[in-house]
Amino acid sequence: MKQPYDIIIVGGGMAGASLAIALSGHGLQIALIEAADLKIDTVPNYDDRGIALAYGSQRIFSALNTWSDMAADAEPIRHIHVSEQGGFGFAHLDAEEEGVPALGYVITARNLGAALLKRLSGIQDIDVIAPGRVQWVNIEEDLAHVGLEDQTLSTRLLVAADGGNSFVRQQLCFEVKRREYGQTAIAANITPGLAHRNIAFERFTRNGPMAMLPMTEQRCALVWTVKDEMAGEILSLNETRFLERVQRQFGWRLGKLQRAGKRSGYPLSQLYVPDTVQHRAVVIGNAAHTLHPVAGQGFNLGIRDVAALAEVVLQAVSSGKDPGLLAILERYQEWRRKDQRTVVQLTDALVRSFSNDLLPLRMARNIGLLALEGLPPARHTIARAAMGIHGRLPRLSRGLPV
Ligand SMILES: Cc1cc2nc3c(=O)[nH]c(=O)nc-3n(C[C@H](O)[C@H](O)[C@H](O)COP(=O)(O)OP(=O)(O)OC[C@H]3O[C@@H](n4cnc5c(N)ncnc54)[C@H](O)[C@@H]3O)c2cc1C
Repeated sequence: MKQPYDIIIVGGGMAGASLAIALSGHGLQIALIEAADLKIDTVPNYDDRGIALAYGSQRIFSALNTWSDMAADAEPIRHIHVSEQGGFGFAHLDAEEEGVPALGYVITARNLGAALLKRLSGIQDIDVIAPGRVQWVNIEEDLAHVGLEDQTLSTRLLVAADGGNSFVRQQLCFEVKRREYGQTAIAANITPGLAHRNIAFERFTRNGPMAMLPMTEQRCALVWTVKDEMAGEILSLNETRFLERVQRQFGWRLGKLQRAGKRSGYPLSQLYVPDTVQHRAVVIGNAAHTLHPVAGQGFNLGIRDVAALAEVVLQAVSSGKDPGLLAILERYQEWRRKDQRTVVQLTDALVRSFSNDLLPLRMARNIGLLALEGLPPARHTIARAAMGIHGRLPRLSRGLPV
């Protein structure tokens, strides 16, 4: 133990583990506290759901030297096809048109987590405290203190990466804006009858948006959003009936759906913290913004928080400044505010627009999709935003060391 720490990160999920890796190797004293055992089968969100990593996120992992342990399990997305069930509009994005090898990659949260944990295990300058649950937090002028069951730790900067129900965020009374959707995401890995040809399908159906993303071994990651009241019944269907239901919503672009892996349900709501910093504390990842998975942007937004925060902190430390000062953290906040707010608002607008079945709105949506299809500059802007390579990019997002 090297108390007081320079940085304590609470939460060893994808955001917290990535930040610990990004900050390591620069002479900082870092602690990573995770409530579960820090193993691939025990960290709650390192499960089998497919995560669409934007091209910009892949560049961050490359710069963090973790992509080499992810690449074999990651399938490139070369095209994105957006359509509405029963509608005439569609739009597509294409990697070649954008001049990139892939618009993004799909990897299971388990494989992504395994690569992060492998990298963490080879790092000497991080004290991993797991299992260890933070039970109280106290901020003073010079240090922040966190209490675990059997010890108290102190730090110059406390990072809350402890997920949507963040205990640290609640203890520090950060303002939170919430929206309930009354929807559940059903995730399962599906084996289709036809090759996916690296196309990610986003289909808006009357029963909610459905994504079918290309995975390794010619599987597809299904994320289907349904009303809460339908979720229990769909989750309990046998495999044949479940596949029939998915097929009815998705159509036949991937031939007859053959097999479905384990199904999981995730109740959905949106959470947004407008001001993510205080003196000696910052919230990142799902603790700062929890999104509907309709556009697959939740973790992509979180990893951009990681890249920007690592850069701001390391710049401050290298010029002899205290990284926990509000003035330093406000630089991070100003950098991240626009991206966070835009992605939260656009994701919400997408969910609500496509949840409405009124005929004029359906017409407008389909005309909008067709207009997008016919307007390459608009498509290009949307593609760059979806790839996470717009605006002022941190060094890691440019593939450079932090
Ligand atoms: C169905 C579904 C599909 C998704 N698809 C995509 C996608 O395609 N692309 C994408 O970018 N995102 C996607 N997401 C979002 C993505 O999964 C999340 O953004 C990401 O998992 C959040 O990671 P995190 O580290 O911020 O939080 P979490 O994964 O919630 O990690 C928080 C960690 O903190 C620990 N913790 C909590 N409290 C304490 C405490 N008091 N003390 C110590 N530790 C504590 C927890 O044990 C946990 O390990 C999807 C989400 C869902 C539900």
